[in-house]
Amino acid sequence: MVDAFAPELELVFLLIIWHSINMSTTALYPGSFDPVTFGHLDIIARAARIFDTLVLAVGAHHSKTSLLPLDQRLSLLETEVATLNINNVKFITFDGLVVEAARNHSAGVIVRGLRNTTDFDYEAQMAAMNAAMAGEVETVFLSASPKTGFIASSLVKQIARMGGDISGFVPPATARTVLKALKT
Ligand code: ADP
Repeated sequence: MVDAFAPELELVFLLIIWHSINMSTTALYPGSFDPVTFGHLDIIARAARIFDTLVLAVGAHHSKTSLLPLDQRLSLLETEVATLNINNVKFITFDGLVVEAARNHSAGVIVRGLRNTTDFDYEAQMAAMNAAMAGEVETVFLSASPKTGFIASSLVKQIARMGGDISGFVPPATARTVLKALKT
């Protein structure tokens, strides 16, 4: 019986393991998620199938006035993503540059969703700015799915403010939180 591999074989195994670890791709999906919508969840489910690890990064965005505070945006995102049954996601918050958040979490890819040409114009410029700052981080765009591509967090908030039904755009727990936040 052979109780140990030949040293050369062990080295080959170690090299294969080292190689596969280094081939794994971590992507970061940054956003305001104010609030998370079915559109975000669609991008998350699809990106999680493409990349080994998906870091969901909720931005503090001091320049933007958000309806929900950062901790609530994060906890809603965690709650809603839990329903997707995916196990390769991590959650973080960040304050500052997206490329710094990507570097800090060893993400070689930034994922963004594209709904229309307005998104494209803005996102293409942002991707170029990020590439100029961090050439090692690639931006990958996923085009929005037809069923959810019209949803925007900003419109969800506007509709809710005017008493409209938002149940087709955000999951129930998120809808309840948005309505509560608008009442306070
Ligand atoms: P940000 O303030 O960074 O734009 P958002 O939460 O509004 O944060 O959006 C985060 C990302 O998700 C952006 O790339 C945006 O284009 C994308 N996104 C937002 N809504 C949808 C949607 N309905 N379908 C696909 N992508 C979307």
